[in-house]
Amino acid sequence: MRHYNSRKRVLITGGAGFLGSHLCERLLGAGDDVLCADNFFTGTKDNIAHLLASPNFELIRHDVTFPLYVEVDEIYNLACPASPIHYQHDPVQTTKTSVHGAINMLGLAKRVKARILQASTSEVYGDPHVHPQTEDYWGHVNPIGVRSCYDEGKRCAETLFFDYHRQHQLRIKVARIFSTYGPRMYPSDGRVVSNFIVQALKGHPITVYGDGSQTRSFCYVDDLIEGLIRLMATPDNFTGPVNVGNPNEFTILELANKVIALTGSKSKIEFKPLPSDDPVQRQPDITLARETMNWTPSTGLDEGLRMAIDYFRMDAVHS
Ligand code: NAD
Ligand code: UDP
Ligand code: UDP
Repeated sequence: MRHYNSRKRVLITGGAGFLGSHLCERLLGAGDDVLCADNFFTGTKDNIAHLLASPNFELIRHDVTFPLYVEVDEIYNLACPASPIHYQHDPVQTTKTSVHGAINMLGLAKRVKARILQASTSEVYGDPHVHPQTEDYWGHVNPIGVRSCYDEGKRCAETLFFDYHRQHQLRIKVARIFSTYGPRMYPSDGRVVSNFIVQALKGHPITVYGDGSQTRSFCYVDDLIEGLIRLMATPDNFTGPVNVGNPNEFTILELANKVIALTGSKSKIEFKPLPSDDPVQRQPDITLARETMNWTPSTGLDEGLRMAIDYFRMDAVHS
């Protein structure tokens, strides 16, 4: 006979990815029963290998564009390639993952009455005309560009979440995640932090796109995961969307210089053309997260970069 206990059963889609693997680790550590579903498009078994021995951890190879029938109490829907190189590799599949994936996970949440959290993105704001971005800003998004499969896919997923909430009274949580970095980022995914660190460690030129005056706000992964967990724990009447990110804003040129200084690299900066639709500014207003979740990131960029650099020194460059 099945033994029921108070352990929460949590499904994490995209659980073998960068953010997902940290979330699996944190929730297992908190005593939850974790089910990780991933099709390994960008995620790897290496990211969660250290969790496989735990009796409270289960891994299934599954593509969220197909239905999934499991019994869980909470769902974190993270499945979706996140870096431009990855999501533009098969843009139709990217939109399917966001849209069909959301429908399937919402259908699952509806059937089992689970709480469900969507990993949305600052990309829903597009190239924003409001700065810093607050949740009530509707965004400035190109519907037909090369980033649209990701941006519009995520926007449609948000629509689905709110319609399931209104139509079927689902308990939803929508997190708009801003750029996050840390250990287990992929060395070759083209994201700025991983690119710069790997280039600096190898003594290769640091590739700054455009003149490097565009800005981003970088959140350390542990802070971000804490934000997602706190969001899931908010009362049922709080749905979000809520910005989760670090409001400290840096230009890409400042980031390049920081990485050079922290690695002690002799790399020189090389300017390259700016990719199309590259947002000029990106900075979250996190007032809502502060007020509703009592959450604010605590890791500064230098401290976080040091931890990410240590990871890339140990793992990526030598593998
Ligand atoms: P990631 O690429 O490391 O992780 C995504 C995971 O989803 C991978 O393990 C991948 O294999 C899996 N996946 C992709 N398509 C799938 C499918 N059809 N079925 C099942 N699994 C699938 O990316 P990440 O940085 O960990 O991002 C996780 C989530 O957070 C994504 O939804 C992303 O859009 C969102 N997000 C991330 C950031 C960031 O800075 N990392 C910023 C904003 C939003
Ligand atoms: N679904 C799923 N797991 C479940 C329940 C539903 O994957 O446990 C999928 C199902 O395949 C469906 C989708 O979720 O296509 C939406 O489900 P919903 O009940 O909202 O819609 P319907 O089944 O009526 O199309
Ligand atoms: N970028 C850069 N050099 C690189 C990779 C990225 O200058 O090697 C820039 C990119 O043009 C963008 C910023 O860094 O302005 C952040 O890029 P990323 O792809 O990491 O994230 P996103 O554009 O999705 O915020």
